[in-house]
Amino acid sequence: MRYISTRGQAPAESFCDILLGGLAPDGGLYLPETYPRITTEELARWRGLSYAGLAFEVLSRFITDIPAADLKALVDKTYTAATYCHARPGRAAADITPLTTLEPGLHLLELSNGPTLAFKDMAMQLLGNLFEYVLDKRGETINILGATSGDTGSAAEYAMRGKHGVRVFMLSPEGKMSAFQRAQMYSLQDDNIFNIAVRGMFDDAQDIVKAVSNDAAFKAQYKIGAVNSINWARVAAQIVYYFKGYFEATKSNDEQVAFSVPSGNFGNICAGHIARQMGLPIACLVLATNENDVLDEFFRSGVYRPRKTAETHVTSSPSMDISKASNFERFVFDLVGRDPAVVRELWQQVDGGGAFDLTGTSHWARLPDFHFASGRSTHTDRLATIRVVWEKYGVMIDTHTADGVKVALEHREAGVPMVVLETAQAVKFAETIREALGREPLCPADLEGLEKLPQRVQVMDADVAAVKDFVVHHC
Ligand SMILES: *Cc1c(COP(=O)(O)O)cnc(C)c1O
Repeated sequence: MRYISTRGQAPAESFCDILLGGLAPDGGLYLPETYPRITTEELARWRGLSYAGLAFEVLSRFITDIPAADLKALVDKTYTAATYCHARPGRAAADITPLTTLEPGLHLLELSNGPTLAFKDMAMQLLGNLFEYVLDKRGETINILGATSGDTGSAAEYAMRGKHGVRVFMLSPEGKMSAFQRAQMYSLQDDNIFNIAVRGMFDDAQDIVKAVSNDAAFKAQYKIGAVNSINWARVAAQIVYYFKGYFEATKSNDEQVAFSVPSGNFGNICAGHIARQMGLPIACLVLATNENDVLDEFFRSGVYRPRKTAETHVTSSPSMDISKASNFERFVFDLVGRDPAVVRELWQQVDGGGAFDLTGTSHWARLPDFHFASGRSTHTDRLATIRVVWEKYGVMIDTHTADGVKVALEHREAGVPMVVLETAQAVKFAETIREALGREPLCPADLEGLEKLPQRVQVMDADVAAVKDFVVHHC
């Protein structure tokens, strides 16, 4: 399997060659040359597999430059009950992503039972093992530099801790994350993990990462890399749980399901789109946004208009507070019939600070073939949904999952099970849970008291030179 750029002006590459990088050299995103189609026989056989077994089947269609036995070992080491141990009481951790039924035909697929209690662990844990494997093979090292507002940074650190050849330098805005998120990151004592709290906002931290990455000489000398949301391996790893969710929510492969996906950067739901292209019987992919409704606007109107930073709302589902959806270009590439010239033209407008409008085009006419629906949710909706799900079903959901449930309920169809992807656990967003329910969130027993552990973090000004200096002295 080779990977091509959505902009069509970069050479095709193998999986391992794009693993450690980000954008393609032409500014596009990598996608498989073609999507592997799953036969009826394969789908029948996959129904009985464990999560790790299924992950191997799915990923071996996309990763053809790692010997099968090695890939099998990597996947088996990643998807264990010991790592994904934070299942709800009564659910089996060995399932990795257990399904909780709220009522007949309405389910939650638990994707947040990993070390950091958010779905990003599903892909990031695999990425950690893949990075270590490929770096070892090549005798190389990497220094991952990133900025986080919460979920991504902690998922990356828990995936990379203790891995040879990898160091993580993670910038976070001082005092802006929840107490639980801070404790998760800053309590790590591993020698290869460095937390840097920047005096400023998330955007200041992000700007520093960009400035360092734009310094080509520094980047090359200090082997600076990233694990951002456009990384293809992350998308690929996420495809697996759509298959798992489908098998859990149906009795036979004649049935169809709908998935509702809380969305920010279009990474999670992009994996659902690819699962559907592979032949998984998905009736509908329901995209749920918060007040930052760039994507809902597109699916309703055909207009894609990324927002300015100043137009981006700070919400109570903060991991979806995005101004532009960095993985969206992958879907648009498919929507426009995989014509890179069209993608280049559209993103010329977007990258120049503008928007594009597909209404009236043949591309827009094809949208129904992709079976998407969308909706948005606000803080008031979030509070109401958290309350209803708690009172009616006795299940506590986090703010992002609440956005998914709210929009899912607007798109249910008779006879089609609706599976809402649970993207985080409530305890990560305790403040909103208190506001909605007037009580403390549930917390997995082994993470209770996390806030009291000693923390290791370097506080510094939002200064590029200071961050570079820190990296140089810790390499
Ligand atoms: C990252 C994240 C999302 C958004 O996922 P995308 O892949 O960016 O669409 C939703 N919920 C939670 C809890 C997250 O951490």
